[in-house]
Amino acid sequence: MKLSLVVPCYNEAENVAAFHDAVLEAFQGCGYSYEIVFVDDGSKDATLHNLKKLHKAQKCFVKVISFSRNFGKEAAIYAGLKHATGDYICLIDADLQQHPGIAREMASLLDEKPEYDVVAAYQDRRGESKVLSFFKRRFYSVINQLSDVKFRPDASDFRCFRKSVAKSILSLAECHRFSKGIFSWVGYDTLYIPYTAAPRAAGSTKWSFRKLMNYALEGIIGFSTKPLRIAAYIGMLTAAAAIIYLIAVVCEKLFWGIAIPGYATAIVLILLLGGIQLFCIGIIGEYVGKTFEQVKDRPIYIAKETLTWE
Ligand code: UDP
Ligand code: MG
Repeated sequence: MKLSLVVPCYNEAENVAAFHDAVLEAFQGCGYSYEIVFVDDGSKDATLHNLKKLHKAQKCFVKVISFSRNFGKEAAIYAGLKHATGDYICLIDADLQQHPGIAREMASLLDEKPEYDVVAAYQDRRGESKVLSFFKRRFYSVINQLSDVKFRPDASDFRCFRKSVAKSILSLAECHRFSKGIFSWVGYDTLYIPYTAAPRAAGSTKWSFRKLMNYALEGIIGFSTKPLRIAAYIGMLTAAAAIIYLIAVVCEKLFWGIAIPGYATAIVLILLLGGIQLFCIGIIGEYVGKTFEQVKDRPIYIAKETLTWE
């Protein structure tokens, strides 16, 4: 098997058949064998039903893994990688925003350029709102300052890599998976090619603003412990400020005898310090929570059904 296309699907009933046909068309006459590994991420619509039809038809090699509930795209990618048998593995969405023709191109680039292990597509033009792209830019500048591995702002999950890279990705068995970080973390020589995302074929995006914010936080907590150090610095700074203020108050009282009406100051300081403390406990809590979840060592996904072509 030369190429495995790993396709996470969540409520993509209207798209899976069209995607499958687009793959058949794009890979016509490619001269090598390829498989599509569909991962049904606990869809609530007819996605699984439609995937089973595609599996039954076997117009090309089709595998279907179906989750017992929605575990998220990251878990779906992990499951897909586990079941992929190709020498090259390509991650691609089911909604036809990423054309399968580009996947074929990426596979031939890996053929032509043995010095690269990964070909990743980045979006040259983004059709998203100004507000969203502002927040995305902020996120990347923050995470690049905090994290040791570097993140490329416009890179996506749409990429094709060699088996060895897939193995490395699978060796990171963390339950809070942030694939952008995992790709950067495992390293390897990556060739970036531009692509333009098409509009969604059908259905709607699964990303709300709130989900994106949580995802961003996940990335920062997962790939940096600097927020903990920042919390320590904030603590030191406020303590230093308090000591300076204390000295100033004592001097004032000794030399000028001014009785300071301190009621408002006291309230403000209590609130300020309380706020800072809660903020820092919150940061620590994030890490403790993530540690707790990892220590439980639960599986990343549960498959209730796996249909293979072998
Ligand atoms: N997806 C998934 N599980 C989820 C959310 C999304 O498997 O919980 C899949 C989805 O079916 C699609 C891909 O991940 O194939 C990308 O999702 P989407 O198109 O909503 O993201 P966008 O393209 O808007 O970033
Ligand atoms: Mg999409």
